[in-house]
Amino acid sequence: MFKAIKIAILLVIKYAGGFWLAKQLNKGNTCVLCYHGFSYKDESSFRPKLFMKPEHFASRMQWLANSSYKVVSLQEATKHPHKENCVVLTMDDGWAATYELISETLAKHQFPLMLYITSYYAAKQGAVINVALAYLFWKSIGKSVKVNDDRLDSTIECLIEKHKISQIVDEISCALQSVAFQERQEILCQISEQLGHSLLHNNQLMFRSLNLDEMLALKKLNVDIQLHTHRHCSPQEEQAFKNEIMENIQFLSQVMTKEDLQHFCYPSGEYYLTQLPWLSDCNVRTATTVQSGMLTPQTDLLQIPRFLDGADVHQLEFEAELCGLASYLRKLL
Ligand SMILES: [Zn+2]
Repeated sequence: MFKAIKIAILLVIKYAGGFWLAKQLNKGNTCVLCYHGFSYKDESSFRPKLFMKPEHFASRMQWLANSSYKVVSLQEATKHPHKENCVVLTMDDGWAATYELISETLAKHQFPLMLYITSYYAAKQGAVINVALAYLFWKSIGKSVKVNDDRLDSTIECLIEKHKISQIVDEISCALQSVAFQERQEILCQISEQLGHSLLHNNQLMFRSLNLDEMLALKKLNVDIQLHTHRHCSPQEEQAFKNEIMENIQFLSQVMTKEDLQHFCYPSGEYYLTQLPWLSDCNVRTATTVQSGMLTPQTDLLQIPRFLDGADVHQLEFEAELCGLASYLRKLL
């Protein structure tokens, strides 16, 4: 209901010239868009901010291509002053679907895209356990799950209820820590079979990260591979934080030169001001958050705001972000 009212108000503002006016006032500023993964099946209903339908993403890119917005790289957008209304595309995590489902769209438009990659799962190649488990349980509400494997220290058995999903995921993920990566994947497969929901779609494993060959193929489509920590975490202890970045650089230097790895995205948007000088020590020049707002000449380049686009974002909400109207409204409300 609230959403319908919001869309109706945005429609009125748009046709009263509000979007146009906000766009004029925001010349020289940039909207940095943030995407994540894409759905093979129904993942966009499971987590709309994390997985978008490929055709939805394609329609967004086509809209941008037809618009007067200039899609530029993050490096270009931070060169001030410029006078255009710019848009930057960023994508987090490095899900395999970025190659498997949207490379045709990326090839069609060749827009510059900054892709932040977490390297642990890219190196290991398997399903991201906690996300895959949460998906399986989301599809299995009301069923019981029993994890009983000789390789684990204990048996876990419970009824899957909506409000308990994250608790069950944490419990099973924690239990799986005691076994090797491949064994974790085998137990995940057993759980998916038990619940009757496959993690394969057309022989493609869902919730997998990009491998090195896929990253190299994406680079040819104007994709700039950058940093997102090794294990998708944001330690508050200096050495642990720097180790995360150094391990990430070490892995990604197989597809990029170390000197080019200068851009970073805080995992889950979690960051602390104490981490900013540590990033500079690691030669990082820009860092993106998930705080709302536009990139302006005054923005701290280690705290760049972004708009999280997703399956649940209406086209009018998307346009309101691009022109900067949404930023004005957030300051007013
Ligand atoms: Zn992330």
